[in-house]
Amino acid sequence: RWPDPDTLLQGMNPQQEAAVVHTGGPLLIVAGAGSGKTRVLSHRIAYLLATGQAHPGQILAITFTNKAAAEMRERIEALIGDAAKSMWISTFHSSCVRILRREAKVIGLNSNFSIYDSADSLRLITLVAKGLDLDPKKFTPKSIMHKISSLKNELIDDDENSMNTNFNDPFAAAVAEVYKGYTQRLRQANAMDFDDLIAQTVYMFRAFPGVADYYRRRFRHVLVDEYQDTNHAQYALVKEIVGVEEQDGVQPAQLTVVGDSDQSIYAFRGADIRNIVEFEEDYPSAETIKLEQNYRSTQNILSAANAVISRNPNRREKRLWTAEGDGEKIIGYVAESEHDEASFIAKEIDRLQDESDIRPGDVAIFYRTNAQSRAIEDILVRVGLPYRVVGGTRFYERKEIKDALAYLRALVNPDDDVNLRRILNEPKRGIGDRAEGAVAALAERERISFSAALARADEAPGIASRSLNAVNTFAKMMGDLAEIAASSSPATALEAVLEQSGYLEALRTSTDPQDESRVENLAELVAVVREFGQENPEGTLGEFLEQVSLVADADQIPDAPGGSEAEAAAAVEEAKRLGVVTLMTLHTAKGLEFPAVFLTGMEQGLFPHSRSATDPKELAEERRLAYVGLTRARERLYITRSEVRSMWGQSQYNPASQFIDEVPEELIEWKREGTARMAPPAGGFGTSRYSGSSWGAGTAVGGRDSGVLPPSISTRNTAGRVQPQKEVVSVSVGDRVNHTMFGSGTVLEVTGAGDKSVAKVKFEIGEKRLLLRYAPLVKE
Ligand code: ATP
Ligand code: MG
Repeated sequence: RWPDPDTLLQGMNPQQEAAVVHTGGPLLIVAGAGSGKTRVLSHRIAYLLATGQAHPGQILAITFTNKAAAEMRERIEALIGDAAKSMWISTFHSSCVRILRREAKVIGLNSNFSIYDSADSLRLITLVAKGLDLDPKKFTPKSIMHKISSLKNELIDDDENSMNTNFNDPFAAAVAEVYKGYTQRLRQANAMDFDDLIAQTVYMFRAFPGVADYYRRRFRHVLVDEYQDTNHAQYALVKEIVGVEEQDGVQPAQLTVVGDSDQSIYAFRGADIRNIVEFEEDYPSAETIKLEQNYRSTQNILSAANAVISRNPNRREKRLWTAEGDGEKIIGYVAESEHDEASFIAKEIDRLQDESDIRPGDVAIFYRTNAQSRAIEDILVRVGLPYRVVGGTRFYERKEIKDALAYLRALVNPDDDVNLRRILNEPKRGIGDRAEGAVAALAERERISFSAALARADEAPGIASRSLNAVNTFAKMMGDLAEIAASSSPATALEAVLEQSGYLEALRTSTDPQDESRVENLAELVAVVREFGQENPEGTLGEFLEQVSLVADADQIPDAPGGSEAEAAAAVEEAKRLGVVTLMTLHTAKGLEFPAVFLTGMEQGLFPHSRSATDPKELAEERRLAYVGLTRARERLYITRSEVRSMWGQSQYNPASQFIDEVPEELIEWKREGTARMAPPAGGFGTSRYSGSSWGAGTAVGGRDSGVLPPSISTRNTAGRVQPQKEVVSVSVGDRVNHTMFGSGTVLEVTGAGDKSVAKVKFEIGEKRLLLRYAPLVKE
């Protein structure tokens, strides 16, 4: 019933084969992207079965995401058939759920315990904090939740944490108290949060050797993919299941881990590269196999990826190579704006279809932040190229965008109860379900709209006086906003909503990393509405909302699974099957491959993200993310950037990402170079490349002090030669200037000198900050 073992080795290179047939001590496979790590794991599992070394129930295969687990199961099923269906091939979390459901009694839980997602956790933590009379402004429930989560990932329980806490530190004290209360409440509710699943399993194994013994006897082979992304609790879990030395006559299980420290991109979730770097110390009898031959990409793509990742400090050198040949050059494009960037992409997808066998279903578009998908989505809708956003939500379906639009809709149409009630307590302003119910009852009794009832809330049956105050404040705010909406531009209305409702403030003060991207998305919405204003100077808010609805409803492709990476692989398969373009963030792209890849928004401050400007660790993580992105491509790779990108409705001049500069220039064919169309070519533009050595040594680049603008920006001309610098226009306060895109304006302020001088200019469309070296600007 098993395949012939020899067929499982066919076509493998010697290192891969050694990894598949390895027996004995722990095995570490360290290898670069696309070198067959996941393939080797799958074949190794099949080989264990085919050679009678194990039966399916003795194998535990773990990966980091559901996406990866689904893919591995698929690959194994292709090799051994249905037996794969009953095997334990799953994520850390789902393996633990299975174990915990079985053993719940041992740790005093009911086996039907609930699993709290992060929204549930947050609600409970908020309750507990309230019960302790903690000021939610001083210690936001979210910041407490994050701290508790990282403690759990470090396997520090509430008792241990209390012992370690310095109660003179108010935040630490608050965390300690809430952690205690939260743990109790979870127990009472017969519930576990996500982090508990792993931590509680580890605790159980440690406290009940009999249970651990059962699983050690059962799983004789433990295999872990994407090991570089495990956090401490996951690492400890593996150690517990495998066993380190002989115990009660049970030998440790055979452990195989596979990973690439260059692809560790989840440090923000507690992943710890040390787990892979120190594997050999933890398991002294371990053998290490390195895979360097890549089977995914062309040599040009690999050379680019090698060049970028090799700048990271403290890494084990490995150089990927392929037997497949150089392939096409990487195509580069410097766009004038994010729309130009999106149009270029759409045109290229079309061209690929005409000139090669690459179809839209073979194409992926990656970006660093979710907000960037909007401009791309708009163009794809406009040119009629069907697409799918994987592992995230479409722009107009994101919560914060829907909330903001709900405000605007409620202002335009006060009778829109649904939208009004959506934002009634968003952000939290003390109008709870009971108050809302009381107002709704009044509306029903008097047969008036919800908004009319809000204005007469004092008549609402049984409304508490505290709620009444909150309702009155809200009604007054909406009245003020409605006046603004009626008398000014849609952009002004949106900005007023975001500021005056406190919505933006709530996101800005939150420490949830997701909220940062929500702010970015809202910035993007502001850009959308400003653009609408530029195209339709007379356009009303109502017309804007109508246009948005049209874009949002435009295409019929079923929606991607929301938010999680869970079904990304399935969604990608589906996209390929449907023949639609796949859009996703770089983080979601790990482990996947596509014939053609567009890496967009390659701009300093965006990618690498501005956060990394002052933190070498963050920069190293951004670089690994770039490496992940570059190595997803099989045949065609595009890198694009935009010279101007609107953020918060401000046009920002973004210099090229340093990652572009790190790619050897002979690998890239530029379809359009920076600034070439915006000023006369004789002036020259490009300047020095960032000197690799200065980055390699981790020295800060001058100009970082000024925030986002490095001193010199590299742009190569078509011949690849470095050209002398363009002369910087000199302007002073009060000068009248003319800009090719924004028209006439007046200089309000000039800061910085020479290369770095930035002017604030008042144009008809608003104020802009312009980097004078690049701005297509002349004095009038
Ligand atoms: P990543 O680091 O991105 O997770 P990986 O190391 O897990 O990559 P795989 O996804 O296993 O790499 O393999 C990359 C591609 O190369 C796959 O399409 C796989 O089928 C192919 N491949 C790997 N090894 C071989 C081989 N010996 N012969 C033919 N194709 C191979
Ligand atoms: Mg893999």
